[in-house]
Amino acid sequence: MKNKGLIWLGVLFGLCLLTGCGWETAVVPPPPLPTLVPTGLPAATSTLPPPSVAGATPIAQQPANTPAPTATPTATATPTITPSPTPTATPIGPCDERLPRDDLFTIVTQTYGLSRDYAPQDLVLLTDYLPVNVTLGYPTEIRQIAIGPLVQMMADMQNSGLEPFIISGYRSYAAQAISWDKWNREEPERAAILSARPGHSEHQLGTTVDFGSPELAEIVGIADIEFHTYFYQTSEGIWLAENAHRYGFTLSYPRGAQELTGFFYEPWHFRYVGQEMATFLHESGTYLTEYQLINQPEPCIP
Ligand SMILES: [Zn+2]
Repeated sequence: MKNKGLIWLGVLFGLCLLTGCGWETAVVPPPPLPTLVPTGLPAATSTLPPPSVAGATPIAQQPANTPAPTATPTATATPTITPSPTPTATPIGPCDERLPRDDLFTIVTQTYGLSRDYAPQDLVLLTDYLPVNVTLGYPTEIRQIAIGPLVQMMADMQNSGLEPFIISGYRSYAAQAISWDKWNREEPERAAILSARPGHSEHQLGTTVDFGSPELAEIVGIADIEFHTYFYQTSEGIWLAENAHRYGFTLSYPRGAQELTGFFYEPWHFRYVGQEMATFLHESGTYLTEYQLINQPEPCIP
C-alpha cells in the first residue's frame, strides 16, 4: 500500500513537471499574497459599512443603511405600504445620474465599457504638480480630483527612499484604440489580457495611474521593460500594495480578478476611488469591481 501511494505521488509530481500544474509560468509566479476568489465572496463585504464618498453618486450603497427610494408611494397608495420584498436590492439612481463624470466608481471591465464620447472635464498635467523624476517629463494627465492625493503619495514614497515613476495616466478613447492595435500587432495572443479594447480601459476615466519602478528591469532581466507581473516584487510595488489605499488608490486587478474584470493581475495599475472606499476595499480583501458586481444591480453603460 505504501509503495502504491508513493508511486501515485511520483506520477502526480511528474505530471506537474510536464504541465506546470496550471501555473502561467511566464507571467504569473506563485502567489505569496492572499488569493482573491472572484465569486462566492459576498460575506467579505456584508459585515462592513459601505463607504460613502462625498461628491460621488451613491452607486456603491448597500441597503442596510439606506431606505430604498423605489418604495416612494404614489398619491393613491395607502400609507401602510410594505417594504421592498427583495432586501438585497440596492437603491440606485437612474442611469443618467451615474454618468462617469459624476462619480469615482464607474464600472469599467472588458464587458462594461465607456462611450467613445466620454472624457473627464477636469484633467490636469502631472508635470505641473510632480517632479520630473516621477513624471519622466511625459505630458501625462489625470483628473484634478486625484492630483492632491497622488502628489502626497509620491512625496511620501520618495521620503521613504523609494523611486516611483508614472508610466501612464488618462488615456482617451482614441489613444486606447491606438494602444489596442499596437498590442494586437506585437503580442496578439496576449493582447486581450494585457490591454483593453477602446472604451474598456479604466484609464479613460482619468483617475487611473500605472506606476513604474527602477528595480523592475533587473528583476525581470529586460532593460526597457515597462509592465510586468514582477512589479509586485519591487520596493515600489510592495509599498503601493500596502499603502496606496491610505491615499485613496486601489488596485483594480489583483490576482484572480480576471474572471470578473477580464484583466490579468496588474500590480502596477491603481485607480483613485477616494480614501474611504479604497480603505474599505483594502480591509475587506476585495476589489472595486468584485464589490460592485456582488452588491449592485447590473450596471448601466453610459
Ligand atoms: Zn493601467
